[in-house]
Order: sequence, then structure tokens, then C-alpha cells
Amino acid sequence: RMEDKENYLSTLNERQLDAVTTTEGYVRIIAGAGTGKTKALTHRYAYLVNELGISTSNILCVTFTNKAAREMSKRIRQMIGDSDTGYICTFHGFCVKLLREDIHAINFPQNFVVMDDEDTEEILKTVYENAHIQSRTYTFDSARDHITALKSQMLHIPYLAEIGNEKLLADYEKAEKVEDKVFLGYLYEQKKVYGLDYDDLITIALYILQTDETKRIKWQERMMYVMVDEFQDVSNSQYALAEILSGYHRNLFIVGDPDQTIYTWRGAQIEYILEFDETHENTRTIFLDMNYRSTPEILAVSNSLIEKNKKRLPHRLEAYKESGRRPIYIHSRTTGDEAQWMTSEIQRLVSEGASYNEMAVLYRSHFVSRNIEESFIKAKIPYTLYSGMEFYKRKEIKDVLAYLRMIVYSDDLSFRRVINEPKRNFGKKRMALVKAYAESHRCSLYNGLLDILEDKTIKSTGAAAFVDTIEAFKKTYKEKSLSDLVTEVLDQTGYEAMLRQSGEQERLDNLAEFKQSVDEYEKTSGEENTLEEYLQSIALYTNNDREKDKETVSMMTVHTAKGLEFPYVFVCGMNEGIFPSKHVDTEERLEEERRMAYVAFTRAEKALYISDAEGLNYDESFRYPSRFIFNIDRDVIDYAHDLPKRLVDDAMSYIAANESRICPSDTELSVGDRVMHKVFGEGTITAMRTDIGCYVIKFDKMATERNLKIGTALEKFGR
Ligand code: ATP
Ligand code: MG
Repeated sequence: RMEDKENYLSTLNERQLDAVTTTEGYVRIIAGAGTGKTKALTHRYAYLVNELGISTSNILCVTFTNKAAREMSKRIRQMIGDSDTGYICTFHGFCVKLLREDIHAINFPQNFVVMDDEDTEEILKTVYENAHIQSRTYTFDSARDHITALKSQMLHIPYLAEIGNEKLLADYEKAEKVEDKVFLGYLYEQKKVYGLDYDDLITIALYILQTDETKRIKWQERMMYVMVDEFQDVSNSQYALAEILSGYHRNLFIVGDPDQTIYTWRGAQIEYILEFDETHENTRTIFLDMNYRSTPEILAVSNSLIEKNKKRLPHRLEAYKESGRRPIYIHSRTTGDEAQWMTSEIQRLVSEGASYNEMAVLYRSHFVSRNIEESFIKAKIPYTLYSGMEFYKRKEIKDVLAYLRMIVYSDDLSFRRVINEPKRNFGKKRMALVKAYAESHRCSLYNGLLDILEDKTIKSTGAAAFVDTIEAFKKTYKEKSLSDLVTEVLDQTGYEAMLRQSGEQERLDNLAEFKQSVDEYEKTSGEENTLEEYLQSIALYTNNDREKDKETVSMMTVHTAKGLEFPYVFVCGMNEGIFPSKHVDTEERLEEERRMAYVAFTRAEKALYISDAEGLNYDESFRYPSRFIFNIDRDVIDYAHDLPKRLVDDAMSYIAANESRICPSDTELSVGDRVMHKVFGEGTITAMRTDIGCYVIKFDKMATERNLKIGTALEKFGR
């Protein structure tokens, strides 16, 4: 499939070629997954360079993830034979380039650092501490949302420049409302480190383009051609950026698929692509309908699922490829079984000649990866985690393990990790004191601390309480079961409460997953379940310095997998509460989750596996197979084995009850209503059985009552 400078255009179909050669003006491709939108876009880039002689420094090509941007540059370089591909990047990546060149326009230093989520969290912690704000009363998540909202109104700009310092301090002092205090404190701290967060990158770039005419003209003249992939997911400010940058040459090429919108929770607006022709004169729209990626069987499953969304333009993907295997759905009793099954299937595929590189494991949420990682490590299957961190390298997991090690070993590394986590007013200065003492007395930091607890600078901290907790556990841990111990440690050290107060749901989910892993360890380790043995066995995962194999199985969330493709795709953790997420509370969000599952399925080229597990000790709500599995028509998917009837019944009523809660029917029927059914005729609703998701109706013509699923088409005509 190597495409070089000579023959790259010959691999396009007629409509793609049309999109590639229509270089001037506004052009839009609306088309489904795998129909070659991205291919058209990359070839258009090559066409501009190879045939029209446009310089790469005059083409802006925007994709959604860094991984997609890297792959796109690689493909394009093959076609244009040039290693300088200029602006092929994400919106954020582009803004970094713009700001490195022009941020002096707002008097901010050019050597700014880009802050990630960890950095911004550190800043928030400092701000809360300095202003004596409790995260219990105002969570980090609310603060983040508020800061984002204010920044999108450009309220941060006047404070950021050097000249804004005085005003910033004055306003900070004056601020009474906690929201304002945190916002201004945050700006103050970020300026100290010359940091910009993701919101800043976009908003400041936009601000400069909107207010500084010279700079605007410079960038507009430079960007002769602007192309945006995955346009269905652009936010307000990203849209504004694309508009302003293409405002002079007016060559804007956008591609997208409304069925793959998965960022509305972050402000994506589907109208931007759907109404593009109304907002841009003489838009040329090109539709593609041939899917080159997947087998007809994979498309049948994907189509069957997405058709259950009510708000969409109906269309089906046609397969270009030859017939293959039907997708397989497998249900397991435990997450361990699910991981085990996946591991052996991967080993089987490899023994048949497939390579690890061709395989991807996709999931809705990070915490799902834990069991699979463990199973892969044991079976020596090389893998790369593309989104998020490997489970046992995550901060909260390392922190709990450090607490457990404190109980047994009280080693310095663990001590440093947790002494001030949660905050015990034990900062660098006090740490230095303990360190000096420990060095001169040749003892561990913890023992050093024990000796100088009465020192007056130490006394004012939470160190004594910390020591009491650890000492109490040292005395009693041998009598406790591992899982009880973990629960108590998380509770008595204040660690879990800290996360709950700052509303860090993802970390809490990971802790729940960690508890689950300890439960599993207990059940399977027989006699050897002392804390010491547990810590030894866990070292296998934590000191997991796997050599970097070239060929690895890719593991990532569905959001990261956007736009990518793999011959073999495993979508796991397809459970109610995980996928769709238990946080879904409206019909719109439910449809977005369904689109997400659609994105996941349509990544597969040759084979698709869908799996779920009852996860015995899980949160009750994770027990059932996802409704998205039941959404797939039974005759297009193979079940590895039949589901227990009891489980299906329970799942159905759980799902029906949930849907009737989050998707109120248009008519809002209630007991006593007179209704009309297309077959049974007129009747009266005698009861609502939300437990099984049914109306109970006495039809006039029938002797006995009938249970009809909530959502069944019924016309209400009176009471
Ligand atoms: P998504 O919506 O998932 O981003 P897409 O529409 O961008 O999908 P591409 O990734 O561009 O689709 O293409 C999907 C696959 O089909 C790729 O492997 C690509 O090389 C192949 N393909 C695209 N167009 C053609 C064509 N005309 N002939 C043969 N293969 C094609
Ligand atoms: Mg694409």
C-alpha cells in the first residue's frame, strides 16, 4: 500500500479525486466511517504540493489527536518526499506554534511552558491552600469548569501580561466570592511559572488574531489552504480559529461524520458541519459512501447499532471488502476471565501468523485496562498504552501501595510519597529537618520523624496523626484481611476523602478498581495472602520495566482511537455503567455514548470482538451486559455462548428502567391514561412497572392485562 509521488492519485475513487482536485473555495466532505475522508485529505495535501507547487509552510492541516497527526505527517511525507511538513498538527499544537512566534503581542514571555492536567492540579492545590479554601466546599472540578468558562470569555487576558500584575494582585485581595478568588489565584500562580493551560493556548491565539491586525494578516496570508479533519467535533473556539485563519484566502476544506461526534460534552457543535453550506458561500459538498476499511460483517454490526439512535440522518455504510468472519460477542463471569479469554485469543491469532501491531484493545474508561494489563504481563504479550498511564503507574495507585509499604517497611521512598498526601502541612522545610536528623542519626526518615515529633515546627503539622495511624496499623494489620486493610487505610489516612472532596471521579474509579484487584488476589492466592506476600507479588506489575518491543498490542480509550484503524479490534468492558457510562443522565448523552461505541466498532478491519464481564464484586450497576450489545440485531453477531436467561431478564429490566428515567417519552403517559395501540386497540393504563420497564394495560377488547415495554408507540387520547 506504499504510495509514492508517482502513483498516489490512482488509488482514489472518483469522488475522492473530485475532493482532492477541488482546491479553491469552501469544500465539505460528509461521510461515514472508513469511507476515505482522511485519505482524501492527505492526498489533497500532496496534490497541493506536488501538482500546484504550494509550499508546505502555507498549508494548515488539523487533526484531532497527536497520534493521528503523527500518522498523517508520515503518510504525507511518503507522497511528497519532503521531511518538512509544516503545519500538520492538532489545534492545540498549532496554537503552540503561533504563540511561540507571537505571544509577545500580549507581553507574555516566549519561553512559556505548556501545563498538563497534573500541573494545573498542583496549581489548584496551592491556590486552595493559600486562600484557605476547602475543596469540600468548592471542588477542583467545579473550579476547572469555572476557569474554563471565564477564559472562554477572554477574562484572563488583561491579567496575563506583565502590566497586569498589579491589577491582578489588587483584584485578588478584593475578591470575595470563592470562584473569583480561585480564578485570580490560579492566574497568579500560572504566571509565576510562565505556564499556559490548554484553554489558554486556544483562547490567547484567538485573541491575538482577533485584536492584532498585523499579526492576523500575517497568519491569514500564510495559511493559503486550511484543512480540518474530524470537523464534527470542533468546539466554538476551534471553529473560530479555522474561520479566522482561512478568512483571507478563503480556502477551507473540512471533513467529518455526524455519527462520530463524541465531544459534545466538551462543547463540540454538530451544527458547524451540518450548516457549513449555509454559513459559507458556494460550498461544494461531497458525499462518500463506500467503506474501504471493514468487512461487510463488521459494518452490519456497526450499522445495526447506530440505527438505534433517534437523532441522526439515516444512511448505511456499504462494504467494499470481501466477506469475513462475523463479529463475536463473549460474556464472562469475571473481569479476570474476560482478560484471560482475550489473552488466549491474541495468542491464537499470533500463532496463525498475525502480528501484535495489528491488534487493538479499546475501552470506554481507563480503569478497565487493569485486568488486561495484568493478564498480558503474565502471558508476556507486549502492549503499549496510548491513553493514560499504565494502571500500576498511576499516582493514586502508587500512593495506596506506598501506604501499605509504610505499614510493613516504612521505607524512605514510600514515606516521601505519602507524608504530605493528603496535605498535612508537611512541606519542603519540614522534610529537610527530618532528613537532616535522619542523616546524622543514620536512621530512616520515618524513624527520624518519630524521634523529633515533639519539635515545635513538627508539632504544628499533621505528622503526629500520620504516625498514630501508621503505628496503629503496624500493630493490627496481621489480624485483618487484605481487603479490609486496604479499605481502612484509604479511610483512616484521609486519602479517599481527599479525592472525594476535590471531586476526582476518575481517581476514585481507579481506587475502586484497585480494591477489586485486592479482592481477586485474596481469592486466588490461598494461604499466601499476607500483606508482605501481596507487596512482593505486586512488584511484578509495578517494577514492570518491559523492554520496548517494536511490535505491541495497542491499548487505548475510544476517544484516542478516533480516526485510527486496526485489523483486529477488541472492545472490552461493554457493561452497563461502564459503556454507556453510569454518569449518563440524558438521552443526548446516551446517544453520544452509542456513537462512541460506533466509533469503536468501525475501527476494525478484519475482526471485531466485543466482551463484557459480570465482575463479581463490582458495583452492582456494572453487572449487566451493555444495552449496546442488545442493540445489535441478533442475526448479525455470533455469541460465543448463550447468555443465562436470568441475566438477560434482569439486564433488560434494569435497562428499561434506566431508559424510562433518562429518556422521558414524548407523551409522558401515566396510570389512568386512555391509549390507542395499533394492534390491540383502545385501553387504559392500570400500572407502571418501572422495575421491568413496562406499562400494564387493560385493553378493552382483551380479557387479561398486557405488559408493554415503556417506549412502545401508544397514542394517548384521554383519561
Ligand atoms: P474515519 O471516519 O474512521 O476517520 P475515514 O473516512 O477517514 O474514516 P480513512 O481512514 O481515510 O477513512 O480510510 C479508511 C481505509 O480505507 C484506509 O485504510 C484507506 O487507506 C482505505 N481507503 C480509502 N479510500 C480508498 C480507496 N479509494 N481505495 C482503496 N482503499 C481506500
Ligand atoms: Mg478519518
